[in-house]
Amino acid sequence: VLYRELSELDKKHFLHPTTSIKQQQENGPDFIFTHGKGVRLFDLKGRSAIDGLSSLWNVNIGHGREEMARTAYEQMKTLAYSSCFATYSHEPAIRLAAKLADIAPGNLSAVFFTSGGSESNDTAYKLARHYWILKGEPERKKIISRTKSYHGVALGATSATGLKPFRDFTGSLAPDFCYVDHFSPADLRNKIEEEGPETVAAFIAEPVQGAGGLHLGPEGYFKEIRSICDEYGILLITDEVITAFGRTGSYFGIDHYSVEPDMMCFAKGITSGYAQLGGVMLTEELHRVFIDRSEGTLLHGYTYSGHPMACTVALKNLEIVESEGLIENARKMGEEMLKGFRSIEAESGIAANARALGLMGALEFVKNKETNERFQSPLAPKVVAEAAKRGLICRSVVFDQQDTLVFAPPLIMSREEMSELHSILEDAVKAVEKTIAP
Ligand code: PLP
Repeated sequence: VLYRELSELDKKHFLHPTTSIKQQQENGPDFIFTHGKGVRLFDLKGRSAIDGLSSLWNVNIGHGREEMARTAYEQMKTLAYSSCFATYSHEPAIRLAAKLADIAPGNLSAVFFTSGGSESNDTAYKLARHYWILKGEPERKKIISRTKSYHGVALGATSATGLKPFRDFTGSLAPDFCYVDHFSPADLRNKIEEEGPETVAAFIAEPVQGAGGLHLGPEGYFKEIRSICDEYGILLITDEVITAFGRTGSYFGIDHYSVEPDMMCFAKGITSGYAQLGGVMLTEELHRVFIDRSEGTLLHGYTYSGHPMACTVALKNLEIVESEGLIENARKMGEEMLKGFRSIEAESGIAANARALGLMGALEFVKNKETNERFQSPLAPKVVAEAAKRGLICRSVVFDQQDTLVFAPPLIMSREEMSELHSILEDAVKAVEKTIAP
């Protein structure tokens, strides 16, 4: 009865993010979640499911952790909110900034806080352009991004997003964004030459493309990108919104490629979803330019930049990531996850191209494993539905003729839970395979 009531209210009043409105109106919500514990979510109908995507690549330390609730409660009780504008500050934001400087790759040493990934991306573009204004090169405005990238939905972030449907959704975009092939350093070089290096502010890339279909860079890609940026004096921004804080089996995704960015966007895993927080980090050199050359006010700031409760929750989250060895667990369980995907691939006539970096992984569906020919109508959404029926939540990616399932389970995943994930997935793949005429 409660499900029916909520479902009707949902259809009538709730405009869901990134959702097929037609499907919502026809079926209402499939799951109305009530609580979470560990790697599982529970719903109103009494079902439970393994959260195979850590909800939105963010609940890294798992659901229902009381110490997080206690931390938030204590901070809210003492100082729920105060501003960090102008001359105001507070210990949670200061401590978190210092902690981030401690763990961040390379020379990243100063942080600007936001409430999420999209805000972080827009902030990075604005700070990059402001940096060039301070350096006396205000014509350096262009931001180059990659074809299958996803950087969020604020206007700048949408404009930088390579996945075209997100850009086509809105009637006009922010100016001075352009795109290059997602794994071609040569294409980046050509684009810089074509646009004129003196007009380019920054190049932005995700260390592992997630929403775009989980693409790992080819060997040497990031090193080459770094050297092209250096050659033309262009800033390299890494979007670590889903790859940071242990997800890939190292603290940051870019650590795998031994490359140091000039700026880095983060969000999601900084709090594991227990509070809304994101940010942008800058190198000491960039920060120095801001310190030495700024005369007016840094006219960029959100009400919730450095929210005390969110910062305290982030510190607690990082403490858990470190004390429970979750980065190492992500690496080990990531290998386990890939092994399972490969064995499903070997058994099945349609599963292919298994890949993973830490606990970010993918499996594709193809009609012909030799030629990678796709099915006319993608199978991944059908596998997602079959897996959900059996107690596993995962996501399909079908942009650009892809037919891919993506996974990013919580970093606390145990071997037993991983083998449960595999066996549900295997059954779901078999169920879909049966529906295909030989
Ligand atoms: N950047 C990347 C790489 C993402 O995957 C996402 C979200 O999935 C974002 C940015 C946007 O973050 P948010 O949804 O917190 O605005």
